[in-house]
Amino acid sequence: MKQELLDFLNTDLQFVKGVGPVLAARFDDVLSGRRVLDFLLHHPSGVRRRDLVDNIMDATTGDVVTVPLLVQTVRPGRSFRGRRSPTQITCVDRAGNRVIIQFFNANFLDYWLQKLPVGAWRIVSGKLERPGRGGNIINHPEFIEPIDAADKIPRSQAIYPAGEGLTQKTFANVRDQIFAALDGNVGLGTSDDQTREFFDAMRAVHFPQTPDDLSPHADAMVKLAYYELLAHQSAIAITRRERADARHRRTVRPKKHDLMDRFYDLLPFELTSAQVTTIQEIHDDMRRDIPMMRLVQGDVGSGKTIIAMAAAVMCAETGAQAVLLAPTDTLAQQHFAKLQPLCEKLGMVCECLTGRDKGAARREKLISLKSGRTKLAVGTHALFSEDVVYRDLGLVIIDEQHRFGVAQRSAMCAKGNHPDLLALSATPIPRTLSMTIYGDMDVSIIHQKPAGRKPIKTTKLPMGRVGALIGRIAAQIDAGAKVFWVTPLVTDSDETDMTAAVARHEMLTQYFPHTGLVHGQMDKKQRDAVMATFADDHSGMSLLVATTVIEVGIDVPRATIIVIENAERFGLAALHQLRGRVGRGSTQSYCVLVHGDNITPDGTKRLDVLCETDDGFVIAEQDLMMRGVGELLGTRQSGWIQYHFVDYREHRDLFKLAARAAADMTTPSSWVHDLMYMFDRSTTIGA
Ligand code: ADP
Ligand code: MG
Repeated sequence: MKQELLDFLNTDLQFVKGVGPVLAARFDDVLSGRRVLDFLLHHPSGVRRRDLVDNIMDATTGDVVTVPLLVQTVRPGRSFRGRRSPTQITCVDRAGNRVIIQFFNANFLDYWLQKLPVGAWRIVSGKLERPGRGGNIINHPEFIEPIDAADKIPRSQAIYPAGEGLTQKTFANVRDQIFAALDGNVGLGTSDDQTREFFDAMRAVHFPQTPDDLSPHADAMVKLAYYELLAHQSAIAITRRERADARHRRTVRPKKHDLMDRFYDLLPFELTSAQVTTIQEIHDDMRRDIPMMRLVQGDVGSGKTIIAMAAAVMCAETGAQAVLLAPTDTLAQQHFAKLQPLCEKLGMVCECLTGRDKGAARREKLISLKSGRTKLAVGTHALFSEDVVYRDLGLVIIDEQHRFGVAQRSAMCAKGNHPDLLALSATPIPRTLSMTIYGDMDVSIIHQKPAGRKPIKTTKLPMGRVGALIGRIAAQIDAGAKVFWVTPLVTDSDETDMTAAVARHEMLTQYFPHTGLVHGQMDKKQRDAVMATFADDHSGMSLLVATTVIEVGIDVPRATIIVIENAERFGLAALHQLRGRVGRGSTQSYCVLVHGDNITPDGTKRLDVLCETDDGFVIAEQDLMMRGVGELLGTRQSGWIQYHFVDYREHRDLFKLAARAAADMTTPSSWVHDLMYMFDRSTTIGA
């Protein structure tokens, strides 16, 4: 692929016209990246038809309509007793039916009104509502154009998975800019056939005309899915080959100190036999001349952290250093808070390094790492910044493995001399898939929870009965419980997740005055502070309303209830993950899956699976069987590897094809390198 094109894919979205740093940061939250490439990999999840009607009575309530309207009167909104009534514009359609356009929001009102001059015909497009006897109402239409500019309103509109603070218009604008640049001076036009076909497929999924264009069996989707799998399988094949290569053998570090006995003495509990076995496997791996590459799969709460700690201690016994890499600052801090005291008792220096460390404090930590004094560094990606140097990095531990790409993994290992690699994953993977997904790793499975854990009691509850639930929660809170209340991601709408969370928070505050709120549009620091208050036993904050930003692995032992709203819209794995935030102590925990009235049979089935079982492996198998497209929310937390175009259920044959192609490949072509670059966040070309 040409350099101009690669550079363009790497461009920060803030440099796309109309974006800027604020929106780019929001994109970062949704896309887990903020490059043009990250945007392209994030395809629309649906298509919205904006069919034109002349007679509003022909349109169904709730549908998005595009209708020519004659503007008749404008009645400005008024404030009354702290409430504001909407501004109403009364219009008629071509058949003489009355349609009212409403604006609740006073922002930009002048801008909108100026688009609706009294006495003029306009084409208006938005969602049609018919509340009670209220007639035909369109709130905040998305498009208002003069009749002769009707073509500015897209007949079919791609709907991107919602992001907090990002509207569909913003998505569409960024997409248009990106494809215009690709067609323009970025040089796609003069690229080789393969590259052009690849981006044609991208174009097809980003400009879908009908829902079929986004089906996993659409030509473009199949093509992209295959390439994505090929990239991944090639990366696996390369690692595997390198590991088998005798030139990559290392000298085993001899043991210099004895720390493990002391470590076992310090444990406040008895290890489960699964934990013991896993630690033994790790011990054996670390004494081989082939670096360890082990994945520990254990359900949420199965006790993986202590295994990581054991590995770090074994590493320290040789005098080498270990790093524990967490996906977020919060999780890094939490691990640090738990492990540091243990390290101290063992005489191991433990530090925490995240993106927040700046200036002198950071410099000091870096010096300690470089000198070899720090034996365990807990942190985020910051641990692998260019200026971070290790004296002898012997072990890389990655928590919540699925957030890191294969190539990223090797970039981290490059900081040491053939270090061991240990990945921890809370999401069990069906055995049938495990080989193809993690083909380059050895796997330990912790199929056992610490003794004394009670299975989480899980129930379904229709939305209409939430009132009764609040009473039950109040009783539990009085008894000392902490409660998570998860509000859903909002899709298919320009409304944001924040709105739902804020509204729910407002409602619950009436019952529980000291209720916390976290959502993705909050500043990270603010968010962390609220989470910390909630986690603090003495804070008095017993209820936390959160969008799905509450992270995998967050440990609040006193949390015993989790309420998940619109649970039917989450995937099985995501629900199981969310549920894992409770049931971490010995007290009985509860999970309430709140669902809407119009729950689909598939949705019901998913919720039933969760009510019936607590076993992550069973759930994973079911998830694979039932995984549908376009109905699953919170995919970032659904575990497994986050493919962009691959559908686990529908593309199973592609897995085999790609694995075979990768295995047959002697040296990857430059095209395969390009693919690895595109699909794996930190692969570098030609490296
Ligand atoms: P996860 O596998 O989800 O990362 P953690 O490592 O956070 O789980 O462990 C969950 C909780 O269980 C922690 O509070 C931890 O101290 C505790 N724990 C871990 N192993 C055991 C054990 N063998 N017996 C009792 N409690 C344990
Ligand atoms: Mg964990």
